[in-house]
Amino acid sequence: MMRTLRCGELRTEHVGQTVTVCGWVNKRREHGEHLAFVDLRDHSGVVQCVVDNTVDVRSEYVLAITGTVRLRPEGTTNPELSTGEVEIHEATVEILSAAEPPVFPMDERADGVDEMVRLKHRYLDLRRARMQRNLRVRSQVNRSIREAMYAQDFVEVETPLLMPSTPEGAREFIVPARQRPGSFYALPQSPQLYKQLLMVGGLDRYFQIARCLRDEDLRADRQYEFTQLDMEMSFVDVDDVLDAVEVAVLDAAEAVTGVRPDEVARMTWHDAMERFGSDKPDLRFGMELVELTPIFADTGFKAFSTAGSIKGIKVDGGAADYGRNKLDNLTDEAKSFGAKGMVWLKVEADLTFNSPVAKFLSEDESRAIVSAFDAAEGDLILIIADEWSTTCEVLGELRNRIGRPPVSEGPYKYLWVTDFPLFVGVDAQTGQPRPGHHPFCHPHPDDIDKIADDPMSVRALAYDLVLNGWELGSGSIRIHDADLQRQVFAHLGISDEEADARFGFFLNPFRYGAPPHGGFAFGIDRLAAILAGEDNIREIIAFPKPQSGLDPMTLAPNEVDDRHLDELGIRVLPPAT
Ligand code: ASP
Repeated sequence: MMRTLRCGELRTEHVGQTVTVCGWVNKRREHGEHLAFVDLRDHSGVVQCVVDNTVDVRSEYVLAITGTVRLRPEGTTNPELSTGEVEIHEATVEILSAAEPPVFPMDERADGVDEMVRLKHRYLDLRRARMQRNLRVRSQVNRSIREAMYAQDFVEVETPLLMPSTPEGAREFIVPARQRPGSFYALPQSPQLYKQLLMVGGLDRYFQIARCLRDEDLRADRQYEFTQLDMEMSFVDVDDVLDAVEVAVLDAAEAVTGVRPDEVARMTWHDAMERFGSDKPDLRFGMELVELTPIFADTGFKAFSTAGSIKGIKVDGGAADYGRNKLDNLTDEAKSFGAKGMVWLKVEADLTFNSPVAKFLSEDESRAIVSAFDAAEGDLILIIADEWSTTCEVLGELRNRIGRPPVSEGPYKYLWVTDFPLFVGVDAQTGQPRPGHHPFCHPHPDDIDKIADDPMSVRALAYDLVLNGWELGSGSIRIHDADLQRQVFAHLGISDEEADARFGFFLNPFRYGAPPHGGFAFGIDRLAAILAGEDNIREIIAFPKPQSGLDPMTLAPNEVDDRHLDELGIRVLPPAT
């Protein structure tokens, strides 16, 4: 071993020992005529070394320093450092690598540096305490999850990266096949089809810490490549799956934070929409949606009389904070979320309203609003009247806009949202319903009779896990009957012929005895980011892509040479003008 201890490990108990530490020069300061202080850093921390000042070492040189540990002289201890009571003195220095001056400082000042510069020199960024901690949090999360899955008898199986395209909704990355020019593999959006086939194959309980790829615009909680705990179980119901996932998530959370979260709350999708206007409600704050529809059953106010659903939220004491400009902006936002308009009411001392629409509301209606919200002077009430889903969704967005703290702040609020709809909305291009999750979710047994006549009202045995308003993951009990699967495909506009052509490899095996099964997948990047106190998953990934998708360090994606393209039978068109 080159070293006897790590830099951050030195304590008073080591006083008198001769030690060797290795690391990077964090800082060098002259000390009197002949000596210099070198703060040496590795992933564990920093230790002060007293060296002869004739050695030429500068920031980020890599050194091995050997010397004797002693107590720091009185008055010079540093309580901010774990090693702050000691130093290595009479130290000899071996230079292992010289270094050019670093592009940015290796401490928290680099947080203010342009992210592209950090990513271009990610190997330097990774040396910083924040990134060291984040990658170790991530490693701990992976480890806890793996252990939790093994402890529950899951088998770790790797599924192919080169696969046919699957209908999970996202745009896929495709890979040209050299042996069959004109044909392409898809990179997995998820191992969904393989893990279901593993169940047909009798694996019983499968898991994988799986890399998934989706060609979608990048955001704070989305990268092209991300990592999921992917799992599947046979002979289970919804509760069995939720329980198994919960163990893994809560173990990981406890391992990182030291505190085991309470049992995860559960709420149906319908209740989540009704109460929070969102299928991923952030439970860290209240501001719940309040039902007003019955109050306006016979209203003379036109904007309300024609709407199917009228609801509102109350901003406690918000009247003073929201002047005309801010309210206009909020109204514009409500419209951008799909509302036709937004009604605002400021509650006055006598519990009447200051509002452009106050005159259209009867006294009874006004009184009923105040009591529905339990409103007091100075409160601000925002009301949306539209069809049910628009009313809920717009208020859900406004609620988040007004009340939501940064995702990593405050308590951790885990939530299961269950009973998602089997189909949602209509695909603008195909005119067909879109799957609520993906086409393999089992319809709720109580709703199965309605599939033919009223498909949009059918619930699925599908569920999401939510943490502080971020969707951590999704899953479902799957269809294990080929006929039912075809029926669901048909509603999605996928004919029998198309199903056979595209998914024959998946449907045929179901004829040979498929066990009832279900599973789940959740984003490890998102969980680790929140547990590490980060609002952006890039901070928890060693080499992420910036928003543009272009990697400033490797310069990927790159052009490839013509010979390679010829082999693949590919011609690149000039950029569209
Ligand atoms: N394959 C799904 C996803 O990646 C998860 C699941 O249903 O298990 O979102």
